[in-house]
Amino acid sequence: MCRIDLKFNVQSSKFNDFGMKEYKIETLVHIYEPSELSKDDLELVEAAKRATEGSYAPYSKFRVGAAARLQDGTIVVGANQENAAYPSGLCAERTALFAAGAQHPDVPVTALAIAARKGRQYLAQPISPCGACRQVISGVEERYGTPVRILLYGTEGTLVSDGISPLLPLRFIDEDMR
Ligand SMILES: [Zn+2]
Repeated sequence: MCRIDLKFNVQSSKFNDFGMKEYKIETLVHIYEPSELSKDDLELVEAAKRATEGSYAPYSKFRVGAAARLQDGTIVVGANQENAAYPSGLCAERTALFAAGAQHPDVPVTALAIAARKGRQYLAQPISPCGACRQVISGVEERYGTPVRILLYGTEGTLVSDGISPLLPLRFIDEDMR
C-alpha cells in the first residue's frame, strides 16, 4: 500500500502494469505578447529590463535584471552580481527578493519579473530562474502565504506562471521539516 501523497501539480495517479504507483504532474504556463500584458505586468517587466543596468557580470557578460512587486505597489529591483570566486556571486532574482525582504519585511511579494540581455540585445526567448532561485521564490510564497506571479521576459513573448508551483513541482517546503 503506497502511503506517499504528492502535494503539488498532480493531475492524476494510477498503478501501472507492474503494480507501481505513477503520478502525472501537470505544468501550466502562459505566453503573452507585449500588447497582452496588463499595465502592472508591463511596468514590472520594464523595471526588470532597466534593472539589468545594475548587473555586474564581467565574467559571463550575461546581464540579468529582476523586479519584485510588493503588495503595496512598491517595486524592488535586483541584478546579477558576479565574483571572481564564482559561487560567491548571486542571481538577479535572489538579489531582488532578499532586498525586498530586508527593506520591506512585512509586505508580501506578489510578482517577480526577470529580463536578460547579452550586450544591448535582450534575449528573444524568456529565461527561467535557476533551481536555487526557484526554491527561494517558493520560500517567499510560504513566508507570506501568497503566490508570486512570475513574468519571464523575452522579446518574442513573456512567459507567465501563476506562482512557483508550475516551475517547481515536488519542491521542498517548510512543512516537510515538521
Ligand atoms: Zn538563480
